[in-house]
Amino acid sequence: MKEPGYIQLVKETEICKKCKNIVVGKGNLNAEIMFVGEAPGRNEDEQGLPFVGAAGKNLDNLLAKVELSLDDVYVANILKCRPPENRNPLPEEIKAHTPWLIEQIKQIKPKVICSLGNYSTKFFLADGDVDKMDKMPGITQVHGKAKVINFQELKIKLIPLFHPAAMIYNRNLTSLWEKDMEIVKSEIQQKKLF
Ligand code: URA
Repeated sequence: MKEPGYIQLVKETEICKKCKNIVVGKGNLNAEIMFVGEAPGRNEDEQGLPFVGAAGKNLDNLLAKVELSLDDVYVANILKCRPPENRNPLPEEIKAHTPWLIEQIKQIKPKVICSLGNYSTKFFLADGDVDKMDKMPGITQVHGKAKVINFQELKIKLIPLFHPAAMIYNRNLTSLWEKDMEIVKSEIQQKKLF
């Protein structure tokens, strides 16, 4: 059987030819809440799973603090392959890799998407138009500010969060993250999603 076009697009990129594993996602495919990060790092590339390295430990701990686990969420990335030396994603790569992410979102139909860090946040704020990402506000401006977006004809509550890796270098962000996660928790618990 022929592979879907969104998989072929990823496989044609240089980073895919160089990576060990394509990292698709992990967690509950029926979850109402999805976390979307940037790109796999070294550990993720080795294991073929997102957020299994140091950033992943942070994410697990932060989720646990608000009583969430992988049973409650699905976790994926903008890029499905590791960029060499963990460099930033290039626009052409985001264009080639996000059709797969969009497919995941259409299948999972999450009510809430927590975008982790600048790239993911800007992608959703730009409604998936990669050429418009540069003009979108950065994570420092919009973290914790929930916004209902119409993404690919799906009504989704976007909650931008700092990237869990940012906390490795800046411990001060942890308390801001915890506050932001309380917003995530109350959105879920009160079922006042829209
Ligand atoms: N950082 C990300 O954005 N995604 C991962 O999967 C790991 C680290």
